[in-house]
Amino acid sequence: MEAGKIAEERTAAGPIRRRPTAPNAATPKDSDMAQIEIRDLRIEYKKPKSEETFVAVDGVSLDVAQGEFITIVGSSGCGKSTLLLTIAGLVPAASGAISINGTAVAGPGPDRAMVFQDASLLPWRSILGNVRFGLEMQRWKKGDLTERALSYIRMVGLGNFADYHPHQLSGGMRQRVNIARALAVDPDVLLMDEPFGALDAQTREVMGGELLRIWERDKKTALFVTHDIDEAVFLADRVVVMGRNPGHIKEIVTVDLARPRTEAMLDGDRFSEYRRRLRASLADDMAQMQLVTEAA
Ligand code: ADP
Ligand code: MG
Repeated sequence: MEAGKIAEERTAAGPIRRRPTAPNAATPKDSDMAQIEIRDLRIEYKKPKSEETFVAVDGVSLDVAQGEFITIVGSSGCGKSTLLLTIAGLVPAASGAISINGTAVAGPGPDRAMVFQDASLLPWRSILGNVRFGLEMQRWKKGDLTERALSYIRMVGLGNFADYHPHQLSGGMRQRVNIARALAVDPDVLLMDEPFGALDAQTREVMGGELLRIWERDKKTALFVTHDIDEAVFLADRVVVMGRNPGHIKEIVTVDLARPRTEAMLDGDRFSEYRRRLRASLADDMAQMQLVTEAA
């Protein structure tokens, strides 16, 4: 589908109305507070060397409240990254709608910031330069850019490394810089696509704890993709389980654990129960995947 057609359909969709009967409708406790509204979203890609389209995501509806922490799990290729990219405005929707604070998403905007798995830092810039870069790109006007960048670098625990360059940092430190860069622009919504995916298990756990500590401060609305079930439960208010062919929401699990979350919770009965439930939900999908592969 060409870009012009997509834009036209988007406009034609008009304001998003709440549809209580929307498929997969999933609403936070107070639906009037929803900051992100996703309605019957369908995302298509053009197949390589072909005129055909591939439906990556279909029928996704989700409401996310301001300050909610949502994690997204699902087998590889089920459309998790695609969903985030579309919310970021980097991949267009084929149909359906996404709105943030009541405004339809029509492209990238300063209300959203994304953190990718691979540290997407500029190698020739210092850490300070990288965090400043995010502000420069958005033509940030408020106050001193350097001071603001430094305050976020300190917040992620890298105050002594502002003058270092990315290659002089560990993977975990680089991801902290990415998070600082995303938060510095003060987005309403933080989109994170397996940000700790390349880190070892121990660093990953530390980073999860730190992310929550930062998040508790100003409660940014967060959408966080992970393939780690413990991480998904530990971070989330709700875990969205996605299924495949095409990507859809299979189940949403509300995590009823107190905040702040503590390491001790990982050993608790309730945590085990969530872990079991998510494993079962995902195993089901993996089995299906295997059948398809065997049949092919
Ligand atoms: P996940 O993040 O859950 O692993 P993705 O969102 O990356 O899955 O991909 C979902 C599906 O969309 C996959 O089948 C993938 O091959 C396809 N896909 C992703 N990006 C593109 C693209 N740029 N062009 C064509 N197909 C794509
Ligand atoms: Mg992905």
